[in-house]
Amino acid sequence: MLVDCQAIVLAGQKLGEADTLVTFLTLERGILKGVARGARRMKSRFGGAIQPFTYGHAILFERRATGLRHVNHFDPIHSFQRIRDDLDALTSAAVMANSTRRLLPEEQPAGDAFALLLKSLRALEAKEDGDRQVFWYLLSILQVAGYQPRVDRCLVGRHGGVPQGSAPRWVFVPQLGGAVCAGCYANQTVGIAGPPVGFPLTPGVHALLRQASRMPEAIRRRLSAGPELIREARALLEACVAERGRRVVKRPIPDQPVAVGVNAERVGYV
Ligand SMILES: [Zn+2]
Repeated sequence: MLVDCQAIVLAGQKLGEADTLVTFLTLERGILKGVARGARRMKSRFGGAIQPFTYGHAILFERRATGLRHVNHFDPIHSFQRIRDDLDALTSAAVMANSTRRLLPEEQPAGDAFALLLKSLRALEAKEDGDRQVFWYLLSILQVAGYQPRVDRCLVGRHGGVPQGSAPRWVFVPQLGGAVCAGCYANQTVGIAGPPVGFPLTPGVHALLRQASRMPEAIRRRLSAGPELIREARALLEACVAERGRRVVKRPIPDQPVAVGVNAERVGYV
């Protein structure tokens, strides 16, 4: 069966003497992998077109019985060469591509993710700020994958504001996918394997994540936030992606408050 799709190259992995196992994000079928035979030969029929971030038109041949796919053709529409020529842009684009591979399942249509990645690569190519682009991209791709960070309530105590008499401090726990008040973090344990690792959630970043999470993707980028805030928020989202991407089986957030057993001092919070 032939699969005809619009595709962005996310990664290429060496295979044997001269082949490349290519991971694409496609408009029609989400993440797809295929072997590009002879792609690493000097006189390859792909002519060096299979490079990370290149957007093009791909035709893959799929054997239903084995699930194996070969890349028959890849015609670049836009190579994003300027990204590969600029170390900062390259680093930012690599974070976007790796996060996409980690978060999205294979062979599930992800048109929103495709449009988002294309838009973000264009912004990087236009030399827009890398930290900012990565932050907005990660927030959106987490949302598309069903892992939007939850920062409106304490994920352990299930309350909105901090309990009376507590210090108004919050911790971001990637294993839980969001915010836990410092009180619950210090006093209880959560039903997750291994000790939860929390990061201080400063009021500015907390407000930025809360506001941005409530807004549609198209307009949230108008929110003003300084570079420090963006860097802090980006680091939290990267931790979230690493955690979510590592999980094979998703662990549900418990409905009832449960014990944590980790002192908040571990994160230097209290
Ligand atoms: Zn709490």
